[in-house]
Formats: sequence, structure tokens, C-alpha cells
Amino acid sequence: MKNVELKKQLVEIGKKIADKGLVVGPGGNISARVDNIVYMKASGICFEEAKESDYIGVDLKTGDIVDGSKKPTCEIAMHLGCYLERNDVSAVIHTHPSIATAVGMQDVTLSPFTPDLAALAGNVPTIKYVVPGGKELAEEIRKVIKKHSSVLMCNHGLLTVGSNLREAYYRTLLIEDACKTFVVAKSLGRMKFFTKKQAEQINNMKAESYRKMLLKEEKHK
Ligand SMILES: [Zn+2]
Repeated sequence: MKNVELKKQLVEIGKKIADKGLVVGPGGNISARVDNIVYMKASGICFEEAKESDYIGVDLKTGDIVDGSKKPTCEIAMHLGCYLERNDVSAVIHTHPSIATAVGMQDVTLSPFTPDLAALAGNVPTIKYVVPGGKELAEEIRKVIKKHSSVLMCNHGLLTVGSNLREAYYRTLLIEDACKTFVVAKSLGRMKFFTKKQAEQINNMKAESYRKMLLKEEKHK
């Protein structure tokens, strides 16, 4: 995929994120990688207003700007850390969805309780609150992303990764939706997570492998 096309995709997904109310104002950020260049939204820009020129390219290893002139997000280390930790990651979506943020304060690991959650997200751990924008947050995220595709951030929001933007985006939507179900189930009085065996059954189903493959189809590199 060419860099120009990737910037178009970033604009599109950014608008969807704003439409779905997954962030308000200039909060949150998304990024995607082509080889050793990571494109991300410039600092202080709102998703609904972001144009292609608002997505700037930085060098994966040094963080130096290689395409564009605006200032990168203050969360640049958090984004780059995910790509440096995992070669199979080509997109990172960080949002502030209201229900997932509330669940992030409960100090829980959101383990699967529906087939969709088992197939597309697996366990979603929570990290403690860390001041945004620094190396410490980047390190905490990196530790979780090593083994998981998504992480709830206490008093902050949600981060998901994917092999492309679509996969990371649908993961974000799915987790916010699952968090709604979690809150309602808890308020009704009973929450039932899948057993390890139930989660494994889903991951061994051919139909689920096919659905997962469709989301992964479009690689950025
Ligand atoms: Zn944030």
C-alpha cells in the first residue's frame, strides 16, 4: 500500500471514530505503518477535521519526522512502542470511549464472554493510571501489547492494535460494545465469562478463522 492511500485510510477511520463518539475533540490518536514509516495524527487536531496533510510520517526507530511539517502527537512513544514490540502490528488505535474508560476503573481483565470477543479480542487487561505523554505510559502499554491486542487504560481510555487499520478499528468498536454489556450484566447482578475451554472452542472454529482472515486481508506493507 502506498503512503498516500494509507493517509486516506487514516482520514476515513478518524472520521468514523469521531462519528461513533469514541473520542471528543482533539483527544485520542491513530497510527499506521508502512515499512519503517509510521503515520499518525498531528498534535491538537480533531478527527472530524483532520485532512491527509494532518497525518504525518515519522521514522519508526528515531521518531524523526520524514513526511509532513506538523508536530506529532505527544503519545508518539506509546504508538512507536507497539510497532517496535510486535512486527505483526501495522495499526494502533487509541481512543477515549466512555464505557470502556469506566470499565478501566474497575481493575478487571475483560476476559471473553461472547464468541466475537473471544475471536477478535481475547483477554483485555487493564493498566494502572499513568500520566499521558511520557515514556512510562509507553512502557506499560508495551508490556501488555506483547501478548494482547487490546488494553484498557485506567482513568484514560482504550488502545487496540491490528494487522491493519480495519482490524484495530473493529476491535475498538467491539470492546466498547462489550463494555456496555459488561456494565448492564453487572447491574442486573450476574456476569458470566467464558471458561478457558469455551474460549478455545471459538478459536478452533473454521468460521471464526475465516472471519478473522477477512479482517486481516489488507496489509499496509
Ligand atoms: Zn489518550
